[in-house]
Amino acid sequence: YIMLAIETSCDETSVAVVRNGREVLSNIISSQIETHKKFGGVVPEIASRKHVESITAILEEALREAQVGLTDIDTIAVTQGPGLIGALLVGVVAAKSLALALDVPLIGTHHIAGHIYANHLMGDIVYPALALVVSGGHTEIVLLEQEGKFRILGRTRDDAVGEAYDKVARALQFPYPGGPYVDRLAQEATEEIVLPRAWLEPDSYDFSFSGLKSAVLSEINRSRMKGESPDFSALAKGFQQSVIDVVTSKAIKAAKEFNVRQMLLCGGVAANRGLRDKLSSLCEEAGLPLLIPTNQLCTDNAAMIAAAADLKWRRGEFSSLDLKAEPILSLEDWSVND
Ligand code: ATP
Ligand code: MG
Ligand code: FE
Repeated sequence: YIMLAIETSCDETSVAVVRNGREVLSNIISSQIETHKKFGGVVPEIASRKHVESITAILEEALREAQVGLTDIDTIAVTQGPGLIGALLVGVVAAKSLALALDVPLIGTHHIAGHIYANHLMGDIVYPALALVVSGGHTEIVLLEQEGKFRILGRTRDDAVGEAYDKVARALQFPYPGGPYVDRLAQEATEEIVLPRAWLEPDSYDFSFSGLKSAVLSEINRSRMKGESPDFSALAKGFQQSVIDVVTSKAIKAAKEFNVRQMLLCGGVAANRGLRDKLSSLCEEAGLPLLIPTNQLCTDNAAMIAAAADLKWRRGEFSSLDLKAEPILSLEDWSVND
């Protein structure tokens, strides 16, 4: 079957055409980064307007590249939430219009389920599996006891990892989004300023990154107060090491506690070189198979939405045409039916 998927939850307008849930025929991603850069972050009103401007052209390009016509489409999937309400609405309205006009089922899809199931485009998932979700707005450890059943074991209590990266990057004078710059600087660093690790309660799988971010800012201020220039690369390395140490340790601990058979890394920060390397070696040590999406499939894209929507397609769990965009949407509630 052929699915057309639409993703507009934040600042990427993306449309994909995917066959049988896994074979990506096209995955067009139009990023608005250049537009938002000058504001130092995503401006919601501008994001919505940009989605409206580009959705039709991106849709046409996705069909052209996949070499399919609208009448070949068997179902439409769309990111229903979570995300920016105005941005989500553009995708949801487009998807509903297409589903109505083509008379095909509509599948409202959870954005984070999409990030997790991007891994299904890389290889087979074996259950129980554990997903470490590290993105711009989310940091979660998710247990998948069975296919399509999501249970959140822990989440961030303040900043998401990507958010912390972007804030630290700004302090290090990098443009938005600064995650990749901090990653590169940390990789090249020879010195490290060791920063604290927020482990929280011994048995907790929750995270906290706002203290770490503040630690970076105070180091910078301390240097400036002394009339010295702060060592940005040593700070980048200290920050990156603290983040990686905490997220990978907690993920491995949860994997052992719940006896999972596979680890899944996902979300925009899964593009981080240091994180990929560290988690790979820890999983290897633990004899745990690991899947990580390619960099393009780590950040927002519509192919991952198709991969998650496939769970619902195969079970005939469709959405009605009064599907609403949901800025806040529970991942656990989006699980497939029993
Ligand atoms: P969410 O998925 O939680 O709604 P989002 O969709 O905005 O948030 P993603 O697109 O998944 O987030 O990820 C974007 C984030 O990933 C940004 O914060 C960006 O800085 C970060 N990021 C991308 N590449 C890297 C990297 N190499 N190292 C660290 N962070 C990175
Ligand atoms: Mg984005
Ligand atoms: Fe995302």
